[in-house]
Amino acid sequence: MDEKILVTRSSIPPYEEYIEAIKPLWETYWLTNMGKYYRELETELKTYLDVPQISLMVNGHMALELAIQAMDFPEGAEVITTPFTFISTTHAIVRNRLKPVFCDVKRSDGTIDETKIEGLITENTVAILPVHVYGNVCNIKEIQKIADEYHLKVIYDAAHAFGLKYKDKGIGSYGDASIFSFHATKVFNTIEGGAVTFSEPALYDKLYDLKNFGIHGEELVVSVGANAKMNEFAAVMGLCNLKHIDTAIEERRLRYERYQELLKDVPGIYFFADKQGVKKNYGYFPILVGEDCARTRDELYDRLKERKIYARKYFYPLTSDQICFENKYKNIDLRNARQLSKEVLVLPLYEGLEMEQIERICDLVS
Ligand SMILES: *Cc1c(COP(=O)(O)O)cnc(C)c1O
Repeated sequence: MDEKILVTRSSIPPYEEYIEAIKPLWETYWLTNMGKYYRELETELKTYLDVPQISLMVNGHMALELAIQAMDFPEGAEVITTPFTFISTTHAIVRNRLKPVFCDVKRSDGTIDETKIEGLITENTVAILPVHVYGNVCNIKEIQKIADEYHLKVIYDAAHAFGLKYKDKGIGSYGDASIFSFHATKVFNTIEGGAVTFSEPALYDKLYDLKNFGIHGEELVVSVGANAKMNEFAAVMGLCNLKHIDTAIEERRLRYERYQELLKDVPGIYFFADKQGVKKNYGYFPILVGEDCARTRDELYDRLKERKIYARKYFYPLTSDQICFENKYKNIDLRNARQLSKEVLVLPLYEGLEMEQIERICDLVS
């Protein structure tokens, strides 16, 4: 009863399975640099994610930084994005010497409010960078329409959206590129890892250069690339985890639905809206603590924490409000995002979470 319950727990394959799978590395001595397992995982994920092209990376953040870099935007150009996300989304824009332009989100699902994008477009706008936050799918159709009209690129942060299908297509096949995170805390992990998915075949070579110092052959460097390669131990972890991913998602679904059942009639507790045509991954269980709830979000957070249940205030504060940006964005009208960031609480959800633990958590929330 006294055991800590964290918001998530990493998925790992059976010990023997991983140990067996890494054994060949002691024969080949090939530990990284686009090895056999890297290539195998790239092929398998392309199929699983149902995307035209994929490029594996060392983590989700570098996937996003390099996906942006690959678009060759002029320095100082503007990227319309959401502040209701993990800090990585905003950092990737700023670290590319571009300017984030924060757009408000929708109360209903926390994704970028597509009706407010057009009003933010200037002659310096080059891209839209929305986030499928918690696996809630953005209004892809409207966003693409705006992008087409104004000749903007669309790069989706799909870090929460592993394995999602939307209208029978892999979520990573929309826009000019999408990025995924395979961090230990995500639905699918390679310990640390990530990927860019896209349609344009030429982007594959470009991303390959960007993640490998721009090296072409032994004596030739053609571009100023970074180092963002996925190593073989990570790739093997991915191959092992991928064998169990459908079970893992199914186990999450059962727990997600148990939460819904127990909390659906609790006054003041709300859920994000479901979207038609989405095959979900049940990565997170966020609740919204409304003003009509007996407790505030922070009171609920503390109440759980006192019992060693570590729910998380994802995403509070907004990325635009972080001190690293020195109040630059404090006065922007982001009312829905601000409201959500005060109301949201992500409850523990992972494969091995006991139903009895879920019942206990829900008792505390009620
Ligand atoms: C996890 C995450 C990232 C970064 O991924 P890493 O693999 O941790 O580098 C980016 N965006 C969002 C929304 C995330 O949740």
